[in-house]
Amino acid sequence: MIGCDCGTCRSADPRDKRWRTSVRVETDDGQSLLIDAGPDLRAQALAFDIRRVDAILFTHGHSDHILGLDDVRRFNVLQRRSMACFGDPATIRDVRRTFAYVFEAATAHGGGLPQLDLFEIAGPFCVGRQEVVPIPIFHGSRAILGLRLGPFAYLTDCSRIPDASWALLEGLDLLVLDALRKSPHPTHFSLSEAVDAARRIAARRTCFTHMCHDLGHAATCAVLPAGMELAYDGLVVSL
Ligand SMILES: [Zn+2]
Ligand SMILES: [Zn+2]
Ligand SMILES: [Zn+2]
Repeated sequence: MIGCDCGTCRSADPRDKRWRTSVRVETDDGQSLLIDAGPDLRAQALAFDIRRVDAILFTHGHSDHILGLDDVRRFNVLQRRSMACFGDPATIRDVRRTFAYVFEAATAHGGGLPQLDLFEIAGPFCVGRQEVVPIPIFHGSRAILGLRLGPFAYLTDCSRIPDASWALLEGLDLLVLDALRKSPHPTHFSLSEAVDAARRIAARRTCFTHMCHDLGHAATCAVLPAGMELAYDGLVVSL
């Protein structure tokens, strides 16, 4: 947090240094997929030596999840093709509005524009041979998407899971779930709400994400139930 001297912000534990929420998935068919492209995408790609991204899957269009999209230019050059981007219709609208200069014919191309192919998600779909199942969730009053890829589900920015979505979350090996802070928040699960949801979903392993500085890594992990932990930047999980 800018201008904060709390224990988490001043912690020497590298797991308390957090970039904006995102994840990269390597699929069984060898693809490299990003879920969300936040403002830290460039720093994250440099830190973790990400050299290829085959597609980007968006959960929603808030700035902390899309503002890294301009840096896709480098992947366009490396891979010599445009980037496939998938999101629900509202998210695709947000991307078109936020990055209007990319889609305006009048924009000069000399400076380098990201080349993006935008696809609206209308149900389960495939990227290569990888099936992606959208999981409708609520982020406050806003309907957004969680995403399931085989035994893995990613539910960031979630304050409510509607009745019909629970069945889509059965049999998970890994659940990544929003847990913002200890006190309630109108658009994110608090830690206790997230633990309750994680218990009901009962994945083999649950990693919480999108924490704010209320939740220091070590102290929070020490009190979480077995099979639940806070994720951290650079965490790698093999399924
Ligand atoms: Zn702080
Ligand atoms: Zn959001
Ligand atoms: Zn967010």
